Amino acid sequence: MAENLQALLLVCFWVVFLQIPCSARAQELIVSVPENVAVGKTIFTASRLPRTQAGDKAELPCAKMEGDPHGRFNVTENCTIVVANPLDRSVQPVYLLNIRIGVQNTSVKIELTDAEGYPPVYNEKCETPVNPDGKTGDFLYSLAATLEAVKTDGTIWSGKGTYTKLSDIGSTRYRTMLYDDPWMLHTDNSDCNIRYIWYTDAINSLVTMQDLWYNDIRHFTCTEEYKAPKIFFEVILHKRGENITSDMLKQYVPESVVEDKTHNYFLFVSSVYSTTETKTYNCEIPNFRKPVGSAPWANIEYLDIEVKPEGCPAGRYGFLCDKTCICKNGARCHGFNGACKCPPGWKGVACDIPKQDVSITTTPSDPRHIYISANVTFRCTAHHVDVTYMSVRYPNATEKVGFGVTKIDFVVPNIQPTNNGPYTCQVRDTRGNTLNSTFVLNVTNCTPDKKGAECDEVCDCLHGASCGRWVGCVCPPGWTGTRCQTKCPHGTYGKDCLRNCSCQNGANCNPSDGRCGCTDGWYGKNCSKPCLNGRFGWRCQQKCACNNSATCSNVDGSCACVTPWTGRNCDQWQTIASRDEPLLESLIPLGSLVFLVAIVMAILYKTGILSCSAPDAGEEEKILFELRRMEQDLAQSLQPGWLGRWEKKVRHLTPGPLIGEGMFGQVRKAQLRTPRGELAVAAKTVRVEDSQSYRDFYREAAILVAVHQQRNDDCGESNIVRLVGLITKSTEKYILLEYAPKGDLLGFLRRIRNMNGEEGLHGSLLGYAVDIAQALQELGRLRIAHRDVAARNVLITAHDVAKLADFGLARDVYVTTQYVRRDSPGADELLPLTWMALESIETGEYTCQSDVWSFGVLLWEIATLGQDPCYDGRTQLSFRQMVGILRQGKRLAMPEGCPDDLCQLMKECWRDDPDERPTPGEIEEKLLQLRRSLFSHYEMETVV
Ligand code: AMP
Repeated sequence: MAENLQALLLVCFWVVFLQIPCSARAQELIVSVPENVAVGKTIFTASRLPRTQAGDKAELPCAKMEGDPHGRFNVTENCTIVVANPLDRSVQPVYLLNIRIGVQNTSVKIELTDAEGYPPVYNEKCETPVNPDGKTGDFLYSLAATLEAVKTDGTIWSGKGTYTKLSDIGSTRYRTMLYDDPWMLHTDNSDCNIRYIWYTDAINSLVTMQDLWYNDIRHFTCTEEYKAPKIFFEVILHKRGENITSDMLKQYVPESVVEDKTHNYFLFVSSVYSTTETKTYNCEIPNFRKPVGSAPWANIEYLDIEVKPEGCPAGRYGFLCDKTCICKNGARCHGFNGACKCPPGWKGVACDIPKQDVSITTTPSDPRHIYISANVTFRCTAHHVDVTYMSVRYPNATEKVGFGVTKIDFVVPNIQPTNNGPYTCQVRDTRGNTLNSTFVLNVTNCTPDKKGAECDEVCDCLHGASCGRWVGCVCPPGWTGTRCQTKCPHGTYGKDCLRNCSCQNGANCNPSDGRCGCTDGWYGKNCSKPCLNGRFGWRCQQKCACNNSATCSNVDGSCACVTPWTGRNCDQWQTIASRDEPLLESLIPLGSLVFLVAIVMAILYKTGILSCSAPDAGEEEKILFELRRMEQDLAQSLQPGWLGRWEKKVRHLTPGPLIGEGMFGQVRKAQLRTPRGELAVAAKTVRVEDSQSYRDFYREAAILVAVHQQRNDDCGESNIVRLVGLITKSTEKYILLEYAPKGDLLGFLRRIRNMNGEEGLHGSLLGYAVDIAQALQELGRLRIAHRDVAARNVLITAHDVAKLADFGLARDVYVTTQYVRRDSPGADELLPLTWMALESIETGEYTCQSDVWSFGVLLWEIATLGQDPCYDGRTQLSFRQMVGILRQGKRLAMPEGCPDDLCQLMKECWRDDPDERPTPGEIEEKLLQLRRSLFSHYEMETVV
């Protein structure tokens, strides 16, 4: 009885509350909430109940009856309504909750109002991967910054830092700052726009906000390579107390943040990253006016930023992957904004609301991974549907049918373009409704590494290139050739080698990204800036020691003294006395000394001794003119100042024992004094009296300089003997090369033969051939023909690497057997006849492919452990005889015990038609294969 009375009172309460007559039907209570209301938020409390009723509610417990099939709300016993699951206005804008209060039922109408930017949009253009190994706290993107900066002391700092996780940030201070200082990440739903705002009081990083601020650098931009420039980063610094000038900042920084008086600086970064690929951006940072703070930077030369999507671990999103995804039922969560990509059968912002659906899926699931000839499984599935009838219709109009089933699987084996077209799955439910889903198969690609109409040709691409069905190998930046086996030719870089290098002063150009590796004394993006502040050498690390207004060479720190100063550091009075005769210096009065020096200089100059022994810009011109007559390409590849840049001081060289002899000079082991200590070098001299020797000396020097100008530091050790320097400003001229303690390959092979007394191929010797094949590839890229590839011109380094040497066609001590004078009238050249290609003998034509012929002979030398090549049993042949023999198709006799593959390779190198000979890249591949098989054969024999 008491219960009934209470119920009656409660009903009257609602009536009073809603101001309707007691006898009328109960009306709805209306609650309006934004659709993005947080889960757990209370949206209705008992306080909304009239006081009379509120007193009774404890005894009249509330309960949700209906109107919320997917459990979006919880109704507590004391009539509080709490959001239990994420809401989504597009799925259900209004909920009519039927609530029982005691014995009465009543309705609460919950209206969802639109919230801007909600629900977040899943934008596939900037989808990030799921990072399976990631830990919470890892970044969504890895950021790699490559930077070159000039320090206040004039030294150059350059380096690359990669940041993929918090622990990559060395300083704990910055780590905590990243979390502790207020920041926020705003991502635009539609265009993959990331806006990052960080506001703080003071930071002291590499380029501090303060540094930028006090240098009036209020913003800078970074643009994407290969594309029309677009703003990637915009940094705006806003000092507290000043008006915000940036519209962007005003738009995106909440007022509460702007008015926060505890912070001085805002860093605002805005970028559009509508891709799933790695991108590099070059930042243009204006010049600093003055260095500030603790960072000793005078300028930032360049800053490149590489952005690579890494992805968050499953269930996390945000730049620091520190936010928790709400996605359910296997839905994918977007790394930017946590938006969910619902799988079939689910809907709602969290994909937790069942949806009547039908889907057709494939295995492999990604259509891009379905290749011609694959077996593809299709699956038609009904989700949350009472199915009466299910059918699958193929492109050829045939059908597969099932009754009362919720899925149908079928396999299409050996899929071909003829199988392309729509595969439609149709479902009818118990109420007669039909649902459809169509998958359009469009398979056009062969399996990776296959190409051609029939997908039966192998691409065999190198260096990570992909294989296109019709175009073959699609090379990554920096590579070219049918198999992407060739580095971009000199002076070019990038995709399809279409971009021109801008590196200057002998800098290397990285073929993939065009980045310049500066030589000693230069810095800047293009290596066009000489060291400043009395600095010289690599990255301007060395301090000049020149005195008395002398000019210091930015390259090697040598001092150009101002009269009357002399000496290494220009700190001695100029005298005619040598350093060994200091007494004389003190005896001759200064005036007569200067006079005497002037007279001596004039005499020396007149007699041509001085003018000849000090090559200047005019000398370089003269040499270039000579070179141009001989080799256009070579002359073109030399940059102004090439001669001077390699120049070393003769007084820094201490010649040692003779280690080899060539036709035009000697090779001595020597010690070179360098800023980094003593260096063992091979010093190659020439006899300058002879104009031919003089020409050959500069030709060899020019080739070596050209090779070194274009060599790329990043591609590891080169197989061309390293040029250390040149000495041309003294009577004795030297080419200084890295010292190869194991001498030349021919001597090496012969020593093996003498030691073992046996002949036969050593598997490891093929390693030397591989090295030289690589050297030929390097030369090919530079379009330089060596013209004298032979074992005698290959040096073996201390690390057992074979390097190609002797670029001057210098005729050496084997001249009697190995070089022959051309028997045409007037010819005074001595030529390595038995190594020469047919066309070189016949027409004097030398190409990289004629080097391949000679390389075949080098292989023969290796296989015979250093025998002299002979035809018809003869090592000495005239030009005419040689041409006759080769034209008859005769070639060097195959060495005994030579593996078939190696013999075959030699024969291919000696094909009449240069274009039919293998390229150095192909040779390398074949040799590596052969070497592997020799080693495995050897291992098997050892095991047995
Ligand atoms: P070349 O005039 O370049 O043919 O050199 C003559 C000989 O000197 C070679 O056959 C080698 O034995 C020796 N030689 C030349 N350059 C070097 C070097 N960089 N290191 C060691 N020995 C060398």
